[in-house]
Amino acid sequence: MHLGTRAVVIILIVVSGLVVVLLVRNSLEPVPFNPGDRYPSTKLDYMGVIYANRSDMYDWRGGYSETTDCPWGRIHNGIDFFFYNNSPVIAAAPGYVEDVSWRENPDTTLNMYNIYVAIRFNATITVRYTFEPFTHVVGDQDRQLSILAVHKGDWVQKGDLIGQLLVVEDSAHIHFGVVSGNEWIDPKPFYGESDLVEIMGFIHIYQPDWDISYPAP
Ligand SMILES: [Zn+2]
Repeated sequence: MHLGTRAVVIILIVVSGLVVVLLVRNSLEPVPFNPGDRYPSTKLDYMGVIYANRSDMYDWRGGYSETTDCPWGRIHNGIDFFFYNNSPVIAAAPGYVEDVSWRENPDTTLNMYNIYVAIRFNATITVRYTFEPFTHVVGDQDRQLSILAVHKGDWVQKGDLIGQLLVVEDSAHIHFGVVSGNEWIDPKPFYGESDLVEIMGFIHIYQPDWDISYPAP
């Protein structure tokens, strides 16, 4: 073989070897989450409320608590919003709709189905909205799904419509919270300044002395 030809063959073998190594490595590593220029994703310090109007809700019964030492007396990993039937639920933060799924509640005497909407903000933070219609009717699953506005794979901006809550029985609500990795954490530090003023103002209509969250001391 001519010396030049031999050099070209060796270079081709080395380059194709490198390509194979890169392809294998990329297929093994998780794809890093990157929202691009859709929104600032380094830090969530501008989370908003999930309601369009205060008048869409009728009560405040509890927020986030890591111990039972709170006004509602139980550990609770999120915040409950008691909406009227068909009220709009809006995105508290922008992100990628990672999951929209139904799960059966283990206690079917209480509440047959929950629908889980998980919206990823960045590599660590996911904001979650659980639609809990409180129903015993199988067909209500389709009724709640038909009034959801987002699907897996969508991108949303803060304030976009996520869906409307189907209210079947009195305890129907949205269970809302912030998850870091796999752990539900105190959502209070993530609110924007004016957003926190808004939600505290709403809470104090019903519970004048309550805080939104009671982390462990
Ligand atoms: Zn809850």
